[in-house]
Amino acid sequence: MYQTVIGLEVHAHLDTKSKCFCGCSTKFGQRPNSQTCPVCLGLPGSLPVLNESALQLALKAALALKCRVSKFIKFDRKNYFYPDLPKNFQISQYDLPLSHDGELYVDTESGVKKIRIRRTHLEEDAGKLIHPEEGKESLVDFNRCGIALLEIVSEPDLNSPQEAYDYLSRLKAILEYLEVSDCNMEEGSLRCDANISLMPEGRNTPGEKVELKNMNSFKGVKQALEYEMERQKALLDKEEKVVQETRLWDALNCVTVSMRSKEEAHDYRYFPEPDLAPFVLDEKYIKKIKESLPELPKAKAERFVREYKLPQYDAGVLTCDKYLADYFEECVKLYPKPKVISNWIMTGLLAHLNERNIEVRNLKFKPKSFVAIFQMMDEGVINGKIAKGILPQMLDGKREARDIVKEKDMQQITDAKGVEGIVREVIAENPKPAADYYRGKDAAFAFLIGQVMRKSGGRANPQIANKILKEKLGRRDNA
Ligand code: ADP
Ligand code: MG
Ligand code: ZN
Repeated sequence: MYQTVIGLEVHAHLDTKSKCFCGCSTKFGQRPNSQTCPVCLGLPGSLPVLNESALQLALKAALALKCRVSKFIKFDRKNYFYPDLPKNFQISQYDLPLSHDGELYVDTESGVKKIRIRRTHLEEDAGKLIHPEEGKESLVDFNRCGIALLEIVSEPDLNSPQEAYDYLSRLKAILEYLEVSDCNMEEGSLRCDANISLMPEGRNTPGEKVELKNMNSFKGVKQALEYEMERQKALLDKEEKVVQETRLWDALNCVTVSMRSKEEAHDYRYFPEPDLAPFVLDEKYIKKIKESLPELPKAKAERFVREYKLPQYDAGVLTCDKYLADYFEECVKLYPKPKVISNWIMTGLLAHLNERNIEVRNLKFKPKSFVAIFQMMDEGVINGKIAKGILPQMLDGKREARDIVKEKDMQQITDAKGVEGIVREVIAENPKPAADYYRGKDAAFAFLIGQVMRKSGGRANPQIANKILKEKLGRRDNA
């Protein structure tokens, strides 16, 4: 038996308008190499200047993760040859990171677990290499060069791929709450390297670790870790050694492949960045940022329980994503029945979104259209069954709830005459169940009501249908 040991290194793009050390725009998806200047291209004689918003956002995240902030801020050069970073070094922080020794509480299968944060530091991103399918040449886009990154390094406190997934989800939620990063994984705004080793039970020194790269979703991280766990286990079972190295996740074939032997810190020849003078942060500056921190998931969940009288479970689900929590609160403003909204979000909305892999922040219909469903139910325009069917039809954002009901003729049949006609037909077509019920078999009633609902295309108002059916069947105890 082995204990799995995992530590994660997360890189998040800080949501600044301009890059970390120059004035170039950080906008995604622009024409290649249209957002560069001598500084981020590393042309001789150009000098970097720190973007203060990058520092502020990084400090926000550090403080929210309960890290100890270093007052003395200094940058270092990490030297290597990378074809997508023309300076041939990356401005980063080495021996004195921006902050250290924080913590993040993560909901795991075995309860809430504290994961220690080793350090967070500021650095700049590299550009992007593009390898077209046809042709032998590779292309390079330097637009991403110099965008501010926050690296968040955990201690190896995670003990399963699922825990790694849960940690990433919580970390992403916090960064989104803080609005320090848009965390858009498709655009590479949030990336993760995962380190994993196995420790034979009974030992307390961890084994050789392997670093995994190239996963582009949390699911990918989990799968890569699962694969790697099995691979290492098989080696150790055969009494073979796990080689310390960097491996790439191949999502197509679902395997990890060796990329390079692991480099050590001394390979990078770190030295202090001579073009950026170190400086000291004063207490007031840090205090101000601390005071600007928004309400975080835990506090928000507690408030939801207090303010909206929601069960703790509901509050936990609703606050695990800032966009969902905001959506919920918008809905409550328009339709003040929090528990109704919460139920519909948890059992209806989230299920549809998960099924289609849509994030709440990309939801296409507004709270106003969502609550229209409940308003129509209250008004007696639709019944619960119809309401459930409307939701998936709203997902493409093309039509409002009320329009769907009108267009599809889904309004409830609430006039007694209309319902009576249907009831009459159902009784005529089902003489046996009708007689059964008359003779005292209650189960037959449910069958007949079912038929009425079916015949009306789910539109008969259930209360009215109940009443009329009972009248028509004329059993004495119901008269
Ligand atoms: P390196 O110097 O090789 O980059 P670090 O000690 O800086 O290694 O750790 C990098 C990451 O690897 C951290 O997130 C840390 O938690 C994790 N880590 C360290 N040792 C192990 C291990 N034995 N197994 C799994 N992860 C580990
Ligand atoms: Mg490292
Ligand atoms: Zn630039």
